[in-house]
Amino acid sequence: MHFLKAKGIFLHFAGIMLLLAGFLMFFASSEAQAATFAQRMANMAEIKDIRVSSNGDRARIVLDTTKDVTFKTSVLSNPQRIVVDIQGAWISSDLKKTINVGSRFAKSVRLAQFDPNTVRVVIESSMNESNRNFFTLNGGDTGHRLVLDFGNVSKGSGGAAIDFGKKGSETGNKDNTQPSSGDDTITPSTNPEENKDKKEEVIPVVEPEFTPGIKGKKITIDAGHGGSDVGAIGPTGVTEKSITLRIAQELQRQLKAEGAEVIMTRIKDTEVSPKRGKATDIEELQARCDVANKNNSDIFVSIHMDSFTSSSPSGTTGYYYGKGTKASVRLAQCISDGVVSALSTGHRGVKSCNFYVVRHTTMPAVLLETAFISNEKEERLLNSDAGIKKAASGILAGIRKFFG
Ligand SMILES: [Zn+2]
Repeated sequence: MHFLKAKGIFLHFAGIMLLLAGFLMFFASSEAQAATFAQRMANMAEIKDIRVSSNGDRARIVLDTTKDVTFKTSVLSNPQRIVVDIQGAWISSDLKKTINVGSRFAKSVRLAQFDPNTVRVVIESSMNESNRNFFTLNGGDTGHRLVLDFGNVSKGSGGAAIDFGKKGSETGNKDNTQPSSGDDTITPSTNPEENKDKKEEVIPVVEPEFTPGIKGKKITIDAGHGGSDVGAIGPTGVTEKSITLRIAQELQRQLKAEGAEVIMTRIKDTEVSPKRGKATDIEELQARCDVANKNNSDIFVSIHMDSFTSSSPSGTTGYYYGKGTKASVRLAQCISDGVVSALSTGHRGVKSCNFYVVRHTTMPAVLLETAFISNEKEERLLNSDAGIKKAASGILAGIRKFFG
């Protein structure tokens, strides 16, 4: 009884308010309506820019937004398209709405104002849920971003970086676990994915001391990728895993000839983890680190080939762990210098990175991007016996210089 009475009073009140609202709307000017619209727009996130990048491991689409956004993911079939609806967002009028990604992980991306409140992003991609990782990022020079990764999302560029499996939510929640990063195109040293590891750092920053000379030194050589993980693929179909193994084997031969004790993470086309193809990315990369760590190696050399979507980039890069030893920086410098002079490649420099294999090895470690497999000239060079020999002797010269 009491309840019914209260409800009646409420309805009476609501009726008056409705009349009042109608009255106000009748007199509302168009300027006022425009102001309300502008205000609503101001509260929404503007999609300012869209950037795409890719390498042999994945494709990345970055949407620059003026505010943090929430999103919902769904999948359409025939052909498969991934739909990401961004709520409370609108698109800058001068933004290119269709972009060709040109990656085997994601073909293209389209943007549209789906309804006044929603921007719809449609990505043509055959990647399943475990090969996608969507998350938002804040801070850095570029502000708010929505990052859409496709491919080997738990691996970074070169198959050597890693995250710890924390996926961005696919149901619209924000995943802001990544610290800010100024740049989120796929370049190994600035990949926010790599910073997901919040575990205690493994490497103690104690500078090692070495006796001079290669003789008697324990050197672990890691041929990047292998088995089910082919790595990047060149324009004529040459696989990264085959080149890295050939260089590693040639380097092993040359190092042994100088009296070094050589430990190989793999000697054939296979994974390193005893779980083989069933190993997770972390297990596989940790298995490579274990080989070096358990053998108490003096140095660790991980051999890779770089890759990009366009064929123009070329050259050699030496990567070291940013929070590691000065010896690692010097090792990366010596080895990349050696390779550049042996192969006559361009020097792209030595760069700090967070790649798993250089982070979780306990000795001076380098990840060498020997040259670009995506560049026809460098693919041809490194697919030849002469190129393999030169690359190996370049690494050897670098190791020789490192030990002094
Ligand atoms: Zn690689």
